[in-house]
Amino acid sequence: MKTLQELTRKNIWNLKPYSSARDEYQGVEASVFLDANENPYNKPHNRYPDPLQREVKMALAKIKKVHEENIFLGNGSDEAIDLVYRAFCEPAIDNVVAIDPTYGMYQVCADINNVEYRKIKLNSEFQFNASELMDATDEHTKLIFLCSPNNPTGNNLHKSEIEKLLNQFDGLVVLDEAYSDFSKEPSFVTKLDNYSNLIILQTFSKAWGCAAIRLGMAFASPEIISIFSKIKYPYNVNLLTQKQALEMLHRYYEVERWVKILIEERTSLMEDFNALNCCVHIYPTDANFFLARVTNAKKVYDYLVKEGIIVRNRSNVTLCKDCLRITVGTTLENTRLIEALQQYDKL
Ligand SMILES: *Cc1c(COP(=O)(O)O)cnc(C)c1O
Repeated sequence: MKTLQELTRKNIWNLKPYSSARDEYQGVEASVFLDANENPYNKPHNRYPDPLQREVKMALAKIKKVHEENIFLGNGSDEAIDLVYRAFCEPAIDNVVAIDPTYGMYQVCADINNVEYRKIKLNSEFQFNASELMDATDEHTKLIFLCSPNNPTGNNLHKSEIEKLLNQFDGLVVLDEAYSDFSKEPSFVTKLDNYSNLIILQTFSKAWGCAAIRLGMAFASPEIISIFSKIKYPYNVNLLTQKQALEMLHRYYEVERWVKILIEERTSLMEDFNALNCCVHIYPTDANFFLARVTNAKKVYDYLVKEGIIVRNRSNVTLCKDCLRITVGTTLENTRLIEALQQYDKL
């Protein structure tokens, strides 16, 4: 791997970050706070939140079995995706390589930051080849984006290819594990110590049932995490979000229970879906959704909308012609979907 200094944009490496009142004072003794121009009334919402979210990170570190210094928390994973571009990619000079199809935000953030985005098509089984991705890189490639389980395909990427890439690429590998709680494959989080070029993204939006609070996690070496902390907005995770995250971390058993239920629901929903006349093929999944090829995606999609049921039409995505992406819901919601499609079959 290149040194982190070589990979980081010069202005970012040299940046002296904004120092907030809460950064400069740290401790538990004080009881009179006249340092931040806050209003003394309206507790607890009158106070700025902890800019480094220490309590949340402490609880999260235990569950993820990492050190607090390995954790960055942001306003959704989307913040972390944006930060990797702003930290490492010089606009109009550097580039990134990504698999295709995958999560759309990697390309949107590349476009916003004016960074060239090189897409490498997956094979028919939605897998990638490490040397093919390596061939697409050059001396200006700072990042490679992988997503496993991948969105919208649902499958895990082969672990051996991910490892090859981590060993061969001299830049940073961003591995998005938004759906790894639903997967039988273990997370790469336990391998952080083996790969100094690995950045793992996870989120509270899926298995944790907290899409509304906007909380994303990045796990990486302490050196990479300090760069993120240096360039983020000082109070990027608000107090309400930190409180709700702490509450969820204390009720982690609930998350585990939801995941177990959703995986069981996924199996029966896929069986029922597969029996429909309009279903052409269901792709294997390790996420809380599956991708299905149907006879005519637009017709099925429009029909479902009329029935008040919304799925995602992925027809225009690479390799996904006539494919719908279907999220696993409650038993009742899944039944409504299947019953509606049984009616569609009879039309
Ligand atoms: C849903 C999703 C996310 C979550 O993004 P947030 O900003 O944390 O809500 C990240 N990556 C992928 C691949 C996703 O599908």
